[in-house]
Amino acid sequence: MRRKLIAGNWKMNMDYKSSDKLAKELIAELDKNMFKKTDVVVCPSYVSLGIVNKTIKDSEIRLGAQNLFYENDGAFTGEISASMLKAVGCEYVIIGHSERRISIHDTNETINKKLKKALEFELKPILCVGESLVEREDDIFEGVIEEQLMECLKDIPEDEFKNIVIAYEPVWAIGTGLNASPKQASDIHAFIRKVILGLYSAVSSEELQILYGGSVNEKNSKEMISAAGIDGALVGGASLKVNDFVSIIKTASETK
Ligand code: PEP
Repeated sequence: MRRKLIAGNWKMNMDYKSSDKLAKELIAELDKNMFKKTDVVVCPSYVSLGIVNKTIKDSEIRLGAQNLFYENDGAFTGEISASMLKAVGCEYVIIGHSERRISIHDTNETINKKLKKALEFELKPILCVGESLVEREDDIFEGVIEEQLMECLKDIPEDEFKNIVIAYEPVWAIGTGLNASPKQASDIHAFIRKVILGLYSAVSSEELQILYGGSVNEKNSKEMISAAGIDGALVGGASLKVNDFVSIIKTASETK
């Protein structure tokens, strides 16, 4: 039985004080029982990782970053390495978010290098894949997602793949208030599992956690998270509001 995972992507929001305040509020609201079958990750901005780590380290909440760079160290102004993330307490890292693919030119090739670096440093990558609105309307979305998976996972051996979580995030649903229907998301999750079966073993395909992301909130989380093959959510906007995020986590913890 796969565990549920709810990850909050705080994006470029909140300074370190507000991030710490939100982390403290989350701890106060979350009940130990909620973590029995559900993992919870928060991904603040780099400058808030240290303080949030201090606040959550004795709780069940896990820390994630929103990106990393694929080199170990050196003259890469403005970038951050896997070892730096590890040292500050990260266990997870989001890789290949569509906002970075679109605005900051992350490509399948650089994402592949980032995944390998994250895995080398025992960070759990949350690999984001998903199609644009045009690709959905042109009915080429499966091909797009397959290509993303094949290129991003190139030369990643099965024993390392086991540490990867995949988030299906249709670009047209991120931060737009539009979300995929549970059936649309379930269909793609099944398709992703099929592609993974072609690359790895049946066990890896079956055990893979696949999150849905795209305007998940406290109102739609139940129907999304309980849909077939959906193992949780990557949540942007709603993860910034303590009550909404707690409600999504509670829903996940009550969902079979
Ligand atoms: C995201 O940032 O990955 C995301 C899904 O954002 P939102 O929930 O705001 O659509």
